[in-house]
Amino acid sequence: MTDRHHARRLGDRPLAPETLMMGFGYNPALSEGSIKPPIFQTSTFVFRSAEDGKRFFEVAYGLREKDPDEALGLIYSRINNPNLEILEDRLAVWDGADKALVFSSGMAAISTTILALSRPNDVVVYTAPAYGGTEYLFDRILPRMGVETVSVADCDGGAALATAVRDAAARGAARGGRLAAVYVETPANPTNQLIDLRAAADAIRDLGQAEAPPLVVDNTFLGPLWQKPLEHGADLVLYSLTKYVGGHSDLISGACMGRAGLMGRVAEMRTICGTVTDPHTAWLLTRSLETLHVRMERSQQNAMELVRRLRGHPKLEAVLDAGGAESSADQQAIFARQCAGPGSTFSIRLKGGEAEAFRMLNALRLFKLAVSLGGTESLVSHPSSTTHSDYTPEAKARCGIGDNLVRLSVGIENVEDLFADLVQALQAI
Ligand SMILES: *Cc1c(COP(=O)(O)O)cnc(C)c1O
Repeated sequence: MTDRHHARRLGDRPLAPETLMMGFGYNPALSEGSIKPPIFQTSTFVFRSAEDGKRFFEVAYGLREKDPDEALGLIYSRINNPNLEILEDRLAVWDGADKALVFSSGMAAISTTILALSRPNDVVVYTAPAYGGTEYLFDRILPRMGVETVSVADCDGGAALATAVRDAAARGAARGGRLAAVYVETPANPTNQLIDLRAAADAIRDLGQAEAPPLVVDNTFLGPLWQKPLEHGADLVLYSLTKYVGGHSDLISGACMGRAGLMGRVAEMRTICGTVTDPHTAWLLTRSLETLHVRMERSQQNAMELVRRLRGHPKLEAVLDAGGAESSADQQAIFARQCAGPGSTFSIRLKGGEAEAFRMLNALRLFKLAVSLGGTESLVSHPSSTTHSDYTPEAKARCGIGDNLVRLSVGIENVEDLFADLVQALQAI
């Protein structure tokens, strides 16, 4: 039975996520009628009786399953906290997940999830380019723990990935392990190349394994509004909440969400590694969720207008937006199947090289020169000399990360002001 504060319907009418963000999962009567959840700035929770403490721990430590109608209380803020639980309930709504868990950063979510899924002798397949921290985890840290990782630079959108999944399953078995997970980041940063999630899920299904390796998707760039991986065959979805969900460039956090069974393993690892977020950050994120759709819609609208005006600009070689007019027919087909919009992070290739790119970056006045994305303010970065500077020249060439590539994260400012800033900076080249 769902209580009134977890109701997702008004009579027969299913309520939209943006409506649920205002109250879902929170009962004001438990907090002196406060319309907004207070910050539960506490490390631990008082049990009403010794019997309660025993019951709560039996379930938390997996000694028994929770009874269907059993009400459980809180234990300790590394395990659970009201601010985290409200946030997790609301986050799960957007992606249609059974359960969400929040972490102290996007990397905490990614590393804890991968640790929960893999064991020595296993193999993990991942798509490249991926976020820098993610690549470091896969390239340098997991191999130290006996997990073999296979990077697939899949510029065809999924064909090479399917082959890699088959090979990795065979390799895992030969090592006395398994293919533990298939990890996909789509769109890829900074090129906006899309990976076909359905093709990846089909490749996993075709292995015919009793316990299929989960398809894990980093949805930071388009989620949760413009891409819902669980609807396209993914088992777990990961976020850097630092980006669009936080949305104000004032916090670091992450999330993992998906099916209940897998989430139990991730929750266990989070409790033991202690990679959970704190009540204040969770409270800020709950506040951010109320305006998420307005911010993401407006920033996408701004970005689409800038893309439209920049396409064909005499100083530009290309404009790289997700599934955009300059991408291949295959890419556009994936976009049509799997994305509801291109989001507001895109890249441009200038005519010239690093000197031209730097002149443009230094001339911009409104776009701030910083890594990160998804905030209310517009940001600009030069991947080749910063976030992707540790790539070899070959890797840069393969992934299309040239010295003339500039990435833009468009905010919610006035679009005419933003366009004027880009025009004057392009003139300065
Ligand atoms: C920023 C980012 C991360 C890492 O998140 P943090 O919150 O910085 O730890 C992971 N994946 C993608 C796609 C990102 O943009």
